[in-house]
Amino acid sequence: SEMCIRDRRWIINLAPFGIMGLVYTNVAGNGLAIFTQYGKLLALLVGTMLFMAFIVSPFIMFIYLRCNPYPLVLRCLRESGLTAFFTRSSAANIPVNMALCEKLGLDKDIYSVSIPLGATINMDGTAIYQGVCAIFIAQVFGIDLTIGQQCVIVATAVLSSIGTAGVPGSGMIMLAMVLQSVGLPVEGIALVAGVDRVLDMMRTVVNITGDQSAAVCVNALENRKETRQAAKAAA
Ligand code: ASP
Repeated sequence: SEMCIRDRRWIINLAPFGIMGLVYTNVAGNGLAIFTQYGKLLALLVGTMLFMAFIVSPFIMFIYLRCNPYPLVLRCLRESGLTAFFTRSSAANIPVNMALCEKLGLDKDIYSVSIPLGATINMDGTAIYQGVCAIFIAQVFGIDLTIGQQCVIVATAVLSSIGTAGVPGSGMIMLAMVLQSVGLPVEGIALVAGVDRVLDMMRTVVNITGDQSAAVCVNALENRKETRQAAKAAA
């Protein structure tokens, strides 16, 4: 089987040339103005991911913890965000995430379920990426989307991010499904394929910080329940 794999590696080796061809077609068809749109896409993605990591997640954590969540958010980013950024894989990050949960003193019964489960199904970064990219591709191809179609994009992006595997680059493959759900051209993926490595790094960080904050929230919820039960038993 080792021989088989080696024989078929030429397909992988051919991919950069294929992507180059697809990017060439897109640039030739749209002119250099496409690079301005690229800039806008990157800015929007970075902005949305930062909003998710620094506003939405901390806000949810605040609701459960009732204290300033930022020291925790920064610690998660520093201790497990960095490995997520470079491995680009939620699955590979599971042990790092679990070690961090242990250091934070979370209940093992909770994080040993929520972290692996989150690494498989909780992909907020991927959902953001797929939604934004679908709109970007529609704009580049000059396709007007109705509000209904935009809602379909939101729904399929959430569903396909659940189905996305926690390995590098899988979110881009699942983007094909989102595009097809509203009849957008699948070739549009070529537009984002060239920069996927960078986008993958960002979305994986958001994916795993989401898993971390979910573990922290569930832990806080369970603690509160236990304290309430203990108080009731004592009364
Ligand atoms: N690389 C991402 C992850 O592992 C998945 C994706 O490609 O969106 O979380």
